This record gives sequence, C-alpha cells and structure tokens, in this order.
Amino acid sequence: MNSSVNMEKLVSLCKRRGFIFQSSEIYGGLNSCWDYGFLGVELKKNVKEAWWKSIVQMRSDIVGIDSSILMHSDVWKASGHLDCFSDPMVDCKKCNHRFRADDLNSEKCPDCGGELTDIRQFNLMFKTFMGTVEDQQTTVYLRPETAQGIFTNFKNIQSTSRLKIPLGIAQIGKAFRNEITPGNFTFRTREFEQMEIEFFVKPGEDMKWFEHWKQERFNWYINYGIKKENLRFRDHEKDELAHYAKACVDVDYNFPFGWSELEGVANRTDYDLKKHIEKSGKDLQYFDEETKEKYIPYVIEPSAGVDRSTLAFLVDSYEEEDERVVLRLDARLAPFKAAIFPLVKKDGLREISKDIEEKLKKHFAVFYDEKSSIGRRYRRQDEIGTPFGITVDYQTKDDSTVTLRERDSMTQERMSIEQLARTIEKKIDQ
Ligand code: ATP
Repeated sequence: MNSSVNMEKLVSLCKRRGFIFQSSEIYGGLNSCWDYGFLGVELKKNVKEAWWKSIVQMRSDIVGIDSSILMHSDVWKASGHLDCFSDPMVDCKKCNHRFRADDLNSEKCPDCGGELTDIRQFNLMFKTFMGTVEDQQTTVYLRPETAQGIFTNFKNIQSTSRLKIPLGIAQIGKAFRNEITPGNFTFRTREFEQMEIEFFVKPGEDMKWFEHWKQERFNWYINYGIKKENLRFRDHEKDELAHYAKACVDVDYNFPFGWSELEGVANRTDYDLKKHIEKSGKDLQYFDEETKEKYIPYVIEPSAGVDRSTLAFLVDSYEEEDERVVLRLDARLAPFKAAIFPLVKKDGLREISKDIEEKLKKHFAVFYDEKSSIGRRYRRQDEIGTPFGITVDYQTKDDSTVTLRERDSMTQERMSIEQLARTIEKKIDQ
C-alpha cells in the first residue's frame, strides 16, 4: 500500500482543493452522496474517456450505448433483481444500528454489544413512481446496474451496428443502490457511476474470453498508472457467485482501508438474454449467417466503478515529500495538463502569459495562476497533479522562450513558445 496516504489526508485534500465535496453540505450533508468539484469533474471525465478510448475507440468489436436510467419494471422481474438483488440485513435491538450480516464477524452488535435481530433480506433497488398516480402499476426503479439497458437493446445494437459475434456493447452511466452500509468516502455510495461492457460470445468460447477480459482490465489500470503491487485478482468462491454467474473474478485495489473491489469480471452465461426472451416473448437469439446456426450468446461482463477507479487513481498517486505533497497522476488523467505562471504580473509578462493560455487551451486543459511566489504556485499545482508548469520571465520578452517544468522530476528546460503545445502533447501521450 501507498504508505504516505491515509483516508483523512486524502478526503481533506479533495475538499480543500476542489476535487470532492459532501452532497448538500450546507444542509448538513446527505450521507453517502458526493459532489465532484472543478478538479474532480475533470479527473472523473478523464477516467471515463480513458476507458471509452481503450474499449470503444481502439477496438473494432465493441460499440457504445447510452440507455435510460428508468426502465420498464418487467426488466427487473426478468433479470432477477426484484427477487434476488438483496443483501442480508440485521438490526441491533439496543441501539437500532443496521448492518450487513455478511460483513459481521460476531453475533453481537459491533457498536454497542447489543443483541441482533434475525437476518432479513433487504432489496437494494430504489423505487419511485412514474406519472401522477402512485401505485403498484406506476412503480419504477432506478437502475442498480447499467447492464440491463444493454441486454434489452442487444438486438437493436447488433442489427444496426452489423457487428458479428464476438461483439461487445459498452456503457458508462449512473446506477443506484440503497446500500445498507455505505462508506469509505466515494468507495461505497448509493448513487455512483459504472463503466460496463457486455461482451457476447459463442457458447463454448466463454471461458477463453473470460480470461481475455480478466487480463485486459487488470492491465488497463496499470497502463494508467496504478502500481502493480497494489492490484490483485480475487476469484469468487462457488457459494459467493451471483445467481447468474458461472465464474467471477474481482480486480481488487489495496486501499488504505484494505483490499477492496475495483471491478468485477463475470461470466454471466446466457442467463440475462434467456430471461428476457422468456419474459418479453421476443426472439433475442443470434443468427450466424456463415454457419446458419441460431443461438443465445454467452456474455462476459467486465463491470467497473467510475468513482472507485477515480479514488484508486487519487490514492495511488498521492505522495508526500520533504517540501511538497504531489499527486503523480498519469498526465492523461490529470485535471489540468499545464499551468501558466508569469514571474510577475507587470512589465507585459501577464499579457504574454495570457496569450500562451489562449493558444494552449485549444489543445488541452490549462490553468493560469499569477498569485503568490513561483515556488508556492508550483507546489499548488503539484498537489493537484498538474504535470507541467510554464513560467514566463523577462527573457521571454527577448527571445520568446519559457521554462517548462516537469512535476515528477522537477527538472526545467527552456523552449520556445511555438514548441510548447506539441512538446506537451507528445509527453502526455508517452
Ligand atoms: P460490492 O461487493 O463492493 O458491493 P458488487 O460486487 O456488488 O460490489 P458489482 O455488482 O459487481 O459490485 O458492480 C460492479 C462495479 O460497480 C463494482 O466493482 C464497483 O466498482 C461499482 N460499484 C458497485 N456498487 C457500488 C457502490 N455502492 N458505490 C460505488 N461503486 C459501486
């Protein structure tokens, strides 16, 4: 684990610098809901873009979708969520605190030692009503996973994209779960974002693809800067498998609060499509034009959390050095790619700096700062992970050169303003 970071330090940095705030803070906060501030929104957007690039843009066998959060309630009957998407819950008879029974190590209340109730199943789906009448007919659910919007659109997407199996459909979107015990900052919340792929394959080829996705997804985190020693696979035991799964492996990260799931890769078999065929009466089978075979595809699902990955990238990049706190974020994920500093505000240096800002902004996100000493301005950018600092000084007026400082090595090189955009872009993509 990264030894210089703990959750208190990280939560405090996130609030102080503008990554993440408690939701509805001015009203005392809403438990387990968080708002991403001006830096957090950029970081999270970059995480999603990195995922979309590697999954949709770089592959020719996967296309995207953006399905609605509210769906016909028969979807959740068919998928099994209405009957099975629950966690075992117990209450303390003395202090009334609630716990997930499968998280407890003792038969007494961990808060007050009181006696616990029998275990009850608690369905995690949020309910609401559609339209003006509130009754069973109008009940709809906030989706607890984005996956079902993919399954119900399988035929639409397959026929319009004209992709042949093996083919994938990818989606990024919000999901909601009324978790019994949310916590650990943005790790477990009741409203969160998922990045999911449903990868449809021929039955019999499913375990080969399961292995493929397991490795792909592990490597994605490493490619974007997570240290290998902080990642591991955890295979699910047979009795732990979800009702639909034949195999499942978690990609875990070594958070300050312990090894915890970042992403699950599951072999969902033909369970979901089969259930939707039964319930809707529609034929969702795939027809292979070459072999003239008709079958229900098997599905491999890599399902990642946007908020959990964002948190892992923050934790993993945090370092304390003698004189500074630095987020060594991969340049592709950093909220700002470069910061521009005039050495002083006067003598025309501000104007030159503003001009550079205008030029660079067309290429990537930049930040302009003219307040306090140069050293302090560097430190402020180190702390939010900005990989490059550009300083405009008196020499700039003579020869149109500036210094380019690298966050990690703190080395500086002099270069012409003309070269800046290309040089930085090249370094970001390294
Ligand atoms: P856990 O065991 O931690 O509750 P899960 O196995 O139920 O997670 P999945 O149903 O596999 O999670 O969901 C896929 C991914 O969605 C998870 O790996 C995680 O990154 C994200 N996710 C699930 N629940 C939450 C939540 N309550 N808050 C934030 N992210 C979540």
